[in-house]
Amino acid sequence: MSARDPRIAIIGGGIGGLTLAIALRQRGIAADAYEQVPHLAEIGAAVALSANSTRELRRLGVLDQVTAASCEPTELIYRDWRTGDRVAAHPVRNSYQARFGAPYYGIHRADLQRALSGALGGAGLHLGYRLSGLQDQGGTMRLDFDNGHVAEADLVVGADGVRSMVRQWVTEGEGVAYSGTSALRGIVPTAGLPSLPDPQAIQFWMGPDAHLLHYAIGGDGQDVNYFAVMEGPREWHAAGSVTEMDQDEARAAFTGWHPAVTEMVAAVPHHKRWGLFVVRPLLRWHRGRAVLLGDSAHAMVPHHGQGANTTIEDAITLAELLAHVEPDGMDGMMARYQGLRRARTRKIQRSSWATNGVLHLPDGPDLAARDRKMARFPQDFAWIHEFDALQSARQAARTAAHA
Ligand SMILES: Cc1cc2nc3c(=O)[nH]c(=O)nc-3n(C[C@H](O)[C@H](O)[C@H](O)COP(=O)(O)OP(=O)(O)OC[C@H]3O[C@@H](n4cnc5c(N)ncnc54)[C@H](O)[C@@H]3O)c2cc1C
Repeated sequence: MSARDPRIAIIGGGIGGLTLAIALRQRGIAADAYEQVPHLAEIGAAVALSANSTRELRRLGVLDQVTAASCEPTELIYRDWRTGDRVAAHPVRNSYQARFGAPYYGIHRADLQRALSGALGGAGLHLGYRLSGLQDQGGTMRLDFDNGHVAEADLVVGADGVRSMVRQWVTEGEGVAYSGTSALRGIVPTAGLPSLPDPQAIQFWMGPDAHLLHYAIGGDGQDVNYFAVMEGPREWHAAGSVTEMDQDEARAAFTGWHPAVTEMVAAVPHHKRWGLFVVRPLLRWHRGRAVLLGDSAHAMVPHHGQGANTTIEDAITLAELLAHVEPDGMDGMMARYQGLRRARTRKIQRSSWATNGVLHLPDGPDLAARDRKMARFPQDFAWIHEFDALQSARQAARTAAHA
């Protein structure tokens, strides 16, 4: 590191913060990542990784470890909520990777987190540091933490999630918006789901005002991660994203659904209801020497499974642009980053929300159009999966260098 290298402070040691720290280190750039929790641990949930992020995880050298802990779905299947009939089905295993150049995986979050934090090796990661104050000192930023620590940085990256404090600072007050939908989630051993057809497929069960998505996780797909989304409640009164929901209420929401669905919901004894919160498309992603990344910039409903994937794209883009920035070029670099990331993530945010209505249609004549849409899914959404964040950042850095 030369004396001219910027001092970079990453706020948040989640998927985005860890990926950025690894990508920067791979480019010879040191960074400090500050995470509020004292231990990195993600409880009881999984994530689906698509080619637009797995190609980057391969470049970062973490894909082998991710692969060992992942399950590659056999197919993507859409089903009717009551009969279980296949509405549309598309092969994944053996064909997705050939088409998009990288795999599609279901993985436990703890395994992904372990792969990322293992690759980082703790270098520059400060646990138990909760950012509580941010101040522009004219060219540098002052950071205050709850534990009394004070730091100074040339660039602050807000990778601090959906309820981001850095976003509040950058946008001067933009908070989160409740989507009007909520979810149940759980991980269930496949062996406990006798009615489930195609247990190693990624499947959407679509019905009136709700859907249930599941996919297998773990190296041999022994568990199923499910995520059941319901319309409502109309308003969210809890302070955070999670409230308690008792088993009877959870079962009632899926009464009359196919036994594969009711078995999954019944298999988890104590439910939490997750309010789905989004960040409305932002005008600005940076202010002063602070820039946003991941959920802090573009939290979306998870119907395309793209929150984590686009967060990884952001991290690679920012790292690559930072690797080419001149000491006096930080403002231009942040503008290029916003230019590269805002339109794409906005498009995915909007498309994810539009999918909510499609997945929750009542029985009736509109289902025929829905079914045609589901049959076209691989063609219509190839633009999400084929995207190459590193190539697009390299191109932008080259263009800027020749301008
Ligand atoms: C139920 C559910 C299911 C999902 N499923 C999928 C999926 O299948 N595929 C997919 O791609 N995406 C999925 N997502 C979205 C995905 O989880 C997020 O998009 C992703 O985790 C965003 O990464 P991030 O690093 O921006 O934020 P996070 O992973 O939330 O990390 C933010 C970090 O910042 C820390 N932090 C916050 N404030 C401070 C502070 N003041 N000081 C220091 N640290 C702080 C937090 O502790 C946290 O560790 C899902 C989301 C939900 C809610």
